This record gives sequence, C-alpha cells and structure tokens, in this order.
Amino acid sequence: MHISESRRGAGIAPTSNRLLGGLFAAGVALVLNLSAPAVAPAKPPATPANRNTMGAAAVDSARQLAADREPGTWMSAGRTYSEQRYSPLTGVNKASVKTLGLAWYGDIDTERGQEATPVVVDGVLYVTSAWSLVKAYDAATGRLLWAYDPKVDRATGQIACCDVVNRGVAAWKGRIYLGALDGRLIALDGRTGKVAWSVQTTDPKQPYTITQVPRVVKGLVIIGNAGAEYACRGYVSAYDTQTGKMKWRFYTVPGAPGDPTNTPELKRALATWTGDFWKYGGGATAWDTILFDPKTNLIYFGVGNGLSWSQQIRSPGGGDNLFVASIIAVNADTGRYVWHYQEVPGDEWDYDVTNPLMTADLKVAGRLRHVLMQAPKTGFFYLWDARTGKLISAEKFAPANWATKIDLKSGRPVENPAVRYTDTKAAIVQPAPLGAHNWHPMSFSPRTGLVYIPVTESSTGFASVKPEGFKINDRSYNTGTISGSEAITKLYAQPGAPARGNIRSYLQAWDPVAQKEIWRVPEKDYGASGTMVTASDIVFSGDWSGMFSAFDARTGARLWSAPVAANVVAAPSTYTIGKDQYVAILVGARGLPPGVVRTSAVSANNSRILVFKLGGKTELPGAPVGAQAAVAHTLNPPLMTGTNEQVIDGQGAYARTCAGCHGAGGVADKSIPDLRYSAALSSLKDWNDIVIGGARKAGGMASFKSVLADGDADAIFHYIVSQANRDKAAQQAAAKGH
Ligand code: CA
Repeated sequence: MHISESRRGAGIAPTSNRLLGGLFAAGVALVLNLSAPAVAPAKPPATPANRNTMGAAAVDSARQLAADREPGTWMSAGRTYSEQRYSPLTGVNKASVKTLGLAWYGDIDTERGQEATPVVVDGVLYVTSAWSLVKAYDAATGRLLWAYDPKVDRATGQIACCDVVNRGVAAWKGRIYLGALDGRLIALDGRTGKVAWSVQTTDPKQPYTITQVPRVVKGLVIIGNAGAEYACRGYVSAYDTQTGKMKWRFYTVPGAPGDPTNTPELKRALATWTGDFWKYGGGATAWDTILFDPKTNLIYFGVGNGLSWSQQIRSPGGGDNLFVASIIAVNADTGRYVWHYQEVPGDEWDYDVTNPLMTADLKVAGRLRHVLMQAPKTGFFYLWDARTGKLISAEKFAPANWATKIDLKSGRPVENPAVRYTDTKAAIVQPAPLGAHNWHPMSFSPRTGLVYIPVTESSTGFASVKPEGFKINDRSYNTGTISGSEAITKLYAQPGAPARGNIRSYLQAWDPVAQKEIWRVPEKDYGASGTMVTASDIVFSGDWSGMFSAFDARTGARLWSAPVAANVVAAPSTYTIGKDQYVAILVGARGLPPGVVRTSAVSANNSRILVFKLGGKTELPGAPVGAQAAVAHTLNPPLMTGTNEQVIDGQGAYARTCAGCHGAGGVADKSIPDLRYSAALSSLKDWNDIVIGGARKAGGMASFKSVLADGDADAIFHYIVSQANRDKAAQQAAAKGH
C-alpha cells in the first residue's frame, strides 16, 4: 500500500462541498496499489531476453491479466487492461534520468500525424504510422524486422476527418492486429508481418475510417470506427481473433423506426430524437477509447458527436439524442448493453467523449471504490463507479463555459443556455471542438494518485447553417455549422468573452479524488502530447517545441529533456531488454517546431521512432536534407483577382469541404499543407489540376470533382488568396511593430 505523499502534505479537503455533497468529508484520501510490486518480479520475464521467442507476440488473457508480473513488457497500447499507462519499472529514476540518451531510432516514411504508442512484446517493438503502416523492430537494436503496408487508397484521406493517423496495434497469440484507415481489420503474423486474415468491418461505399487501436478481450478483437462528421452510423464490433468472424456488433445510435438492428435500448434511444436523422446515419462513432475491465467483465467505449453537429438540423425538436456523447458499457462476452452515461445530452459542440478511459482503485470518502475515469473534451473530469456507471464526482479541469457544473443526483450537466445556437442565434463555446483534452493518452500513477493530462484551452464561435436547403454530401463535412460570422465577432467583442481560438496548453497533474489540480507545466508552443508515468515517479511527455521530457510526477519539475526535431502528439512506452530499461516515443505531427528544419529524407515532419536508454549515445541526423530544409514562414500570395461573391462562396465551400483537413480559415492545424502558403496559388490552373484533376492523389489529396459544385474550386482559390493577403498584411503590420 502506498500513501500519496503529495496529497498527505497538500491537505485534501474537498474543493467543493456544493458539488461533492460531502463525499470527501472523511478527509485523507488513500491510493491503494492493488497491483504488483513496483520492483522486478521474483520470476524474471521469460521472453524478451530469450531470442527463441522473439516475435512470438505470445499474449493471451492470462499473460495480459498478469502484466504487472513482467513489468519489462508493454504488451498493449495502455500496457494493462486498466490502461493507466503506468510502468512499474524503476531503472530510469530521478538520479539516473540525466544520463538518458538515444539508443536507436527508425525513420518513418510518412509525413502526417504519428499517434501510435509502441507495443513491445517478446523482444519486438511494433509501431504504426500514418496511412496504417506497421513496422516491427528488434526492441534492443532497432533493426527493422518487417514492415507492412495495407496500401490504403489515398483517396480515403478525403473522408478522414482529422488526418490519416493510426494509434497502434494489439498483440495476441502470435498475431498483430491493425485497424486500417479504410475500415479493414487485419491480422498479421507477429514474426513475418504476413497477412493471416483481413475483414472489411465497414461498408466501403460509406465514409467510415478507422484510426483507433484494436483491443483484444477474451479472444475477441474489438474495433469501432470514425466518420460522424460525414454521414454514417456508429458501431463497435467484436471479431474472433483466430478466424476473423464477427461475433457481435453494438450500434451506438438507433436506425430508422422498425429497423431490425434496433435493440430494446436503441428503441428507447429513438424516443430521444426527432426528425429523420437516421437517413444519414446519425453519426455517434466510437472512434478511439475502448476499455475492458476484468473486474466487472464490461467493455466500455466512448461515443462521438451526432450528425450534424447542429441540433437544429439533426434533431429539430431537440432531445438528448442517445447515445451521442455517451459512455456505453456492454457485457464483454455478448456485447449486450449494460449501462450508459450521457455526458453531453443533445450535444452540438462536437463534444465526442471518445477520449481515453481508465479504471483504478481509489479510496474515496474512506471507501475503496473501483472507478472509471475520463478527462474528455468538455473540460470536466469524471469519476464513475465502474460497475454501475453511477457518477461519483465531476469537476472542471479546464475552463469550460458550456455547463456550470454536473448535477451529481441526476448526473446531468447544468447547461449554460447561451451556448446553444441556431441559424439566427450565434454562440461562443469553450472548449472548442478539439477539446480541453482530446485523444492524447493520459496516465495515472497508483503511487502519486495523480492523473497526468495534456490540457489545451480554446474557444470558438458557432451558428447553425439554415436547415432549409441543407444537403448532406458524404465526401465532405456535414457539421451544419458556421464558425465565423459578424454575430460571432460581436460576441467575442463583449466583455468577459474568452480569447478566440487556441489559448494555451499545459501538462497537468490532477487529483481525481479531491478533483483538483496539483501542478501544471505550461507549454511554450501550443499543442498536446500523450503521457506515461513510471514507478520512479517520472512522467514522460513530448511537446510542440520539439522536446521529449521527463518530469517529477509529484512536483512537475523538469528532470530531463532531449531534442527530437519534431512535434510530438503520441504517448511513450517503456520496456526492458536484459538489464536495460528503454523509453520509446513516436514523433512527428503537423509541420516542424519553431527553428527546426527537415532532417529526414523520407518525412517532411521528421517522423521517427526514438528509443532512449541510460547512457545512450546515438545522435539524430542534424544536417538539412534537400531543398525543403528551409521552412517558408513569409506569406507571398498573388494579388486578388476574384470577386467579393467568389470569396464569400469560397469561404462556405472551404468550410464544408476543406477545413476538416486544411484548418479553419485556411490556417492549417494538422500535418497537412497550409494553403495560404501553397505554390499552387500562383496559378489557378495548377490549383484546379490538384483540386479537380486529382494531381496530388498519391499524397492523399484526391480529386474533389464529385464533391464540389461548379465554380466552387475557383471560389475556394479566391477565398484562400484573400485570406493569405489579409494575413500577409497582418504579418507586415506586426513586423513594423503596429
Ligand atoms: Ca467528432
């Protein structure tokens, strides 16, 4: 048993009796470490050092359940079924971390966002990159053992809301399981990377994608999908790991009245909707978190937004719109509904609650509770009873204006009416759709009792498009919203309005029992990166300044940093081979950190897998590669030639079709070209060759001919030229010191 030192010192009186209803009146909170000891187990790990088993991927239920008995293995993305991303290893500790250096690295041959957590089992490190590529390395030396490319049609990029990313693999009984962007679930031989079986989990004619990690539970591989910004109906399915045969499927939103897939709970859910939302699927995709809890035999998943975001369009009569923005718990054997908790009834701000879930045993108000935890987009940190889904507590971990609090009795938010919008009423909402915390893995230490969350603060404006004449196009965003208008600008000018756009970001240590922040480390450059914590009380995380760092888990003091020449969004993992502890992190995201140039021949954003160990002496390449080394930061658009009407039409068409990838207002926020800087702005013909002709299909920019109306491509061109000229004038004014 470990008593949280930091909490004992800090005093943990309840932060808010109003909300917590005296739950914490007992005062001192204990955190019990019910799992394995924080030191090496009595029985040494059988596999990593034994080269005969290398690549065996020999994970089964018993081994995964006993993950703490082999702390040197990281056999699933979240390490254990609890997905706490806590490592019992202590080889890298506060005294030794200063000598941590690069042991080996591998260049990743894509230049989009890299979001996978490396899985390390039986001596092999498995990692995925953008476009669903898989690579297997000798975890000690970095020798590439095999690589697999599912050859996803690059046109799929058109329907991937948020970049063509992948968050990693599952290992099970000799095989490696991958969810590919185009909806395939693929089983690979762990030793060779050869395909054992492949199934299409989605209708390829519909705009479904997969970016999440498959989870294996009792011989079934569980997978959901994404696409709720386009036009589809969310579901989670279970497939037999050996044969690829589907065992069960759970739809997250009702089909049409009378649809045979409407289970009793979906029939009840139907009553919380109005209109004919089911014609377009309703959205509600479960695109990231899936968590299995052996104690309750439940599988939990978080459900995303409804389609459209605008409730005026989606469900004109209002309603909760179940199971949009809900946590759903199903029986792990049957996939049958057990309970749900809707975090955002009638959501219309893209508050997906697909963000990481974890289970833990916490002493709350003197009582040991088996809890489920989440820090979703909404800015509230939730603690539920894992068995029943009953809300224990919920408090804001970041600024949020959409609700003042969560009522513990009803479990419902006390919503701020000002944040609802229509086609005649604009609103400001905080956090913005990317959330206070998105998919980036958080971690929990049973020793400190703290959760380590990458927090981003933001706000945005919303208004609905007019419902009359609104048409769904399943190759483009159908959010039914406008984020820029005069009415929104006016709202932002009012006293007390939050700052617009991205405000700040920080690594936060959160006490889930007291529901309060213990420390935070502000980020120099805005952005979120996944976290991991170890038994030596070190939190590891990257950032958007091009650094990978170790922090004191109790104080936030920075103990060590290494430059990684890339932005970091993914979370690290750690493992041992022989006596050495290794720390692995996949790097690469939108663009490059300030001052960093291209140093990779195969990736414009320097995507790499980096593996550190004590005394590591490997150096990253430093010399610029090729002509693209210099990053253009000065706007140089042509003069405006379009009409005002074209610019206005272009703004609308851009928001519907392009903004999802290329960023709101033409300002890129992902690892996708910022069009204001595009060389194609010098020629409307070049532009149309790309947008209509599909000249950049191989890079993921397929033709939008079937998506855009006549004249839209020209209009978008003129809109981007207009935006670039406006921003160029702002750059020049700033340079002059105005
Ligand atoms: Ca969403």
